[in-house]
This record gives sequence, C-alpha cells and structure tokens, in this order.
Amino acid sequence: MFFIIMQSLLNNPLFRPPAEADSLILQIDEGCPYNRCTFCGMYRETHFRKKSFEEIRMIIEQESVYDQGVKRVFLADGDVMRRSYEDLQLILVELAQHLPMLARVNVYATGNSIIAKTDAQLRSLRSLKLSTLYMGLESGDEATLRNIEKAETVKVMIEACRRAQECRLKMSVMFLLGIGGVTRWQNHADATAFALNNMQPRLLSALRFVPVPGTELFEDVKAGRFPQLTEYDIVQELRTIVSLLDLNNTVFRANHASNVVPIEARLPRDKSKLLANLDEMMASGALDRYSPGAMPLWL
Ligand code: SF4
Repeated sequence: MFFIIMQSLLNNPLFRPPAEADSLILQIDEGCPYNRCTFCGMYRETHFRKKSFEEIRMIIEQESVYDQGVKRVFLADGDVMRRSYEDLQLILVELAQHLPMLARVNVYATGNSIIAKTDAQLRSLRSLKLSTLYMGLESGDEATLRNIEKAETVKVMIEACRRAQECRLKMSVMFLLGIGGVTRWQNHADATAFALNNMQPRLLSALRFVPVPGTELFEDVKAGRFPQLTEYDIVQELRTIVSLLDLNNTVFRANHASNVVPIEARLPRDKSKLLANLDEMMASGALDRYSPGAMPLWL
C-alpha cells in the first residue's frame, strides 16, 4: 500500500495515502484485519480492532464541531472496505449528516473486500459519497504474490478493480518495484503490466520495496535469502513495466521517498517521454549497479 505515517492519539501509527494530505483522517478501525503480507510493517504492532458504531458516531460528532467545511474524509485503517455494506452505509450517512460540505470519502481496500460487495451495494456506497478505493496490487505475478503471502489472487484484484470502476468508484492501484526479487523480476514486470492493462485504474502508483524491520521479508534480505535488485535494476524493471502498459486514461505517480526517480505522468499521453527519460537515466551511469543504493529510513 501507499502511505504516510502519522501518530494517532492512542500512539498507534496512523497511515494515510500521500494524496489524502488535505483530508480529515478519521480512524474507524485500528490496524489491518489480515496483517500477514511478509513485506508490510504498517500495522505489525497494532492489534486489529473494529470500533463500534457508537465510538465512530462520537468521533464524527467531535470532528464536525471543529470544522463544518470538511469536503474530504479518509477513513483509516488498513482495509476499511472489509466492513459490511450495512456498517459502511451507516457510517457514510452519519458523515453526511454532520458534514454538510462533504464531497468524497476515501478508504484503503483489498480485492477480497471489494468483491465481497454486490454491484448494487457498490453503487449504493458510491451514491453515499464513497469515492476512491486505494488497493495494493503489489505484483501481477501470482508466484510473487504467494511468496509475499498476499491474501488475494491477481484474478480477484483485476475483477475487484473492474467491478468497482463499473460502479463509478475510483480505483487507486499501487504496485511494488523490486518485490519479485532477482529471480522473478521479469515475470513480475510482465505480469504486473498485464494485470494493470486489464484493470485500467484511473490512478496508479509505484513504490519501491524497502525492507522494513520486524517483517519476514526484512529477515530474508538480511539472511541473503532475498537478494534485492540494484538501483539500476529497479529502473530497468520500471522501464519494462511502463513499456508494456496500455492504459487509456491513468494518472501515474512514483514520487514516494522510496522511488529512485520521481515520476508524475498521464498515460498514455506521456508514455514516450517517460520511456525516453528512463532510458536517459539508465545510460547516464549515475545509477548504482551493485547495490540497491540509498533507501529511506522510514516507510
Ligand atoms: S493487507 Fe495491506 S495493510 Fe494488511 S498486511 Fe497486507 S499490505 Fe499490509
């Protein structure tokens, strides 16, 4: 997933996508109900808890006293879409009642939590101002997904994305550069582009895999069981994926601190320019061909 760390009042880390910087963040769950992806350290220390509707109602009431002009809300934490349709409906109605200017409510979602809703339910949630679903594809390569213990198959995530968009929800999909490692990078690149072409997400983000202490994949990197791609290889992988993308109308960003090269592009309009920039970077000799290079200290 794509995230920025904040600190909640209870000292649990609170994550939100960078694009939600101007949104009111309401933590209606604590942690991730799955919490088993081997690369993800976001909620490792957080015991998952679904807040009761009473608690949520009080949070909404308190926040609405401070600012009646809120237009955007992000509901945290890990997979809010996993709540039942009835729960989500109640929460969205409550938000609309207290925030008269509210235009959009955005959440993290997973393939399984999206396809668990019927089309009628997705449309109904959309009509109640649910807007963008942030979903981590991570990889289109099934073997890579199994290696990192992702709960969903590629097929489920493609179906989730297509159905949500058919029901007028906006999908923001994230993939992870380097997550296939040295052995599966080509499969990861080919299959990720294939999955994305089938998804046609309106918003797309790329992050680079960074080993996070406390995760299984961090231990694998440390023990030499998962050799990381070099900085050069990461850019080559990104170039391969971009070259295979056939997207109709997508905003593509790779401007997270983990990325080797910051990117902001509209596809297909900027594809040739983007490929030329990546070629130039690979030919410049500036990229580290022997190690992953500098990594951010946080994620
Ligand atoms: S589902 Fe998302 S938040 Fe939960 S462990 Fe996997 S990547 Fe992390």
